[in-house]
Amino acid sequence: MEYIKSKIRDVIDFPAKGVVFKDLTTAFKDPRALHILGWDLSQLYRDKGVTKVVGIESRGFICGSILAFELGAGFVPARKPGKLPAETVQASYSKEYGVDTIEIHKDAIGPDDIVVIHDDVLATGGTMAAVYNLVKSMNPKKIYVNFIIELGALGGRKALPADAEVESLLVY
Ligand code: AMP
Repeated sequence: MEYIKSKIRDVIDFPAKGVVFKDLTTAFKDPRALHILGWDLSQLYRDKGVTKVVGIESRGFICGSILAFELGAGFVPARKPGKLPAETVQASYSKEYGVDTIEIHKDAIGPDDIVVIHDDVLATGGTMAAVYNLVKSMNPKKIYVNFIIELGALGGRKALPADAEVESLLVY
């Protein structure tokens, strides 16, 4: 874990003043760090019968795909509006300025699925809460929530349902 931490770059004042951006591209480009990330994430869910991993656009696509591959599960992208070609279900959520929307293909998840929703960073939790509600509306058997990094001081867990099963590899 210390090795992965040493490969994460802090970018000050990105994308706005006052934000310390946890840049994972420096870990993703490092073969050993990427391997450890994929292995450690998948160890959390090995015996859970996971059938689908939902990755949140766009940084959640990277380790979300690796996680799906390692677990023998399928991969489902949660995308910004207008990117998915077939019929979708949508959820809107409040951001610092205005409202944002996220979509999943309507036929992507069903009642037999056991789902892990993955994103790279938990900040305020608004994005994950919206995707969680969207996935829940598709009635899967079970939902797990997963992050590489949790920014504890921002209290993102409070935005998620109290019974959500949340795992983060690194907490800052
Ligand atoms: P949230 O505030 O939890 O809804 O975060 C929204 C999205 O922005 C997540 O998908 C993260 O990838 C990204 N994000 C927010 N804050 C940071 C940060 N400090 N460093 C890196 N990514 C961030």
